[in-house]
Amino acid sequence: MNKSESINTEEQYKKALDKIYQAMNSSALLEQSEEDEFNDLVTLVEAYEDKHYPMPKLETVYLSLGSNLGDRKEILEKAIVLLNEKVGVVVKQSKDYETAPWGVTDQPDFLNLAIEIRTPLKPLEVLEQTQSIENQLGRVRKEKWGARLIDIDILFYGNQIIDEPNLKVPHPLIQERDFVLSPMVEITPDFVHPVLGKTILELRDYPRTPPTE
Ligand code: ADP
Ligand code: MG
Repeated sequence: MNKSESINTEEQYKKALDKIYQAMNSSALLEQSEEDEFNDLVTLVEAYEDKHYPMPKLETVYLSLGSNLGDRKEILEKAIVLLNEKVGVVVKQSKDYETAPWGVTDQPDFLNLAIEIRTPLKPLEVLEQTQSIENQLGRVRKEKWGARLIDIDILFYGNQIIDEPNLKVPHPLIQERDFVLSPMVEITPDFVHPVLGKTILELRDYPRTPPTE
């Protein structure tokens, strides 16, 4: 098969695959011309597969979870099970961090953690799912930064910068919040903030500004 040919049918694709497997299983070294032919064949097979057998593109997403009412530990665990079902595979999970409330201080302590998820969903679809999980777990939306059964914030969606009315990513307060940075340092210290250009570890060791409305 030479470069000008392309793979258009399933039969041609199967033949090409056979050739590739044969070359891979053969102990004979390829001549330069055979090697070029082999590489061209792989390129054609990949192009055919992209078109006919596309792999779902998964994005790496970091979420921050917090709870300061009810059985906090149990609620966080339930949220993670639901996220795994509705958003994507939870590949990393930090331990729980007991933290004093931030912003509105006369309320119970929080239990916070961070997770890494691999998701096929688009950013706004992730938000839709995290909000539906918050609701399902009985979150009542009252005061800003106030007590809640569960809060799920989208910290990062890969390296994307999103500025929609209802979704800001990277989450604008990451660099100000120890309860976000500490769990994130545990699971992904070297992740570079796509706007600030600093790693999570560097951000944790940076001075914070106190919460203001
Ligand atoms: P907070 O987490 O600030 O205490 P909420 O959880 O009630 O408050 O979120 C308020 C709004 O923040 C939501 O309606 C949501 O649309 C918006 N929002 C903007 N960016 C994000 C983000 N990155 N993650 C989660 N929610 C976000
Ligand atoms: Mg929130």
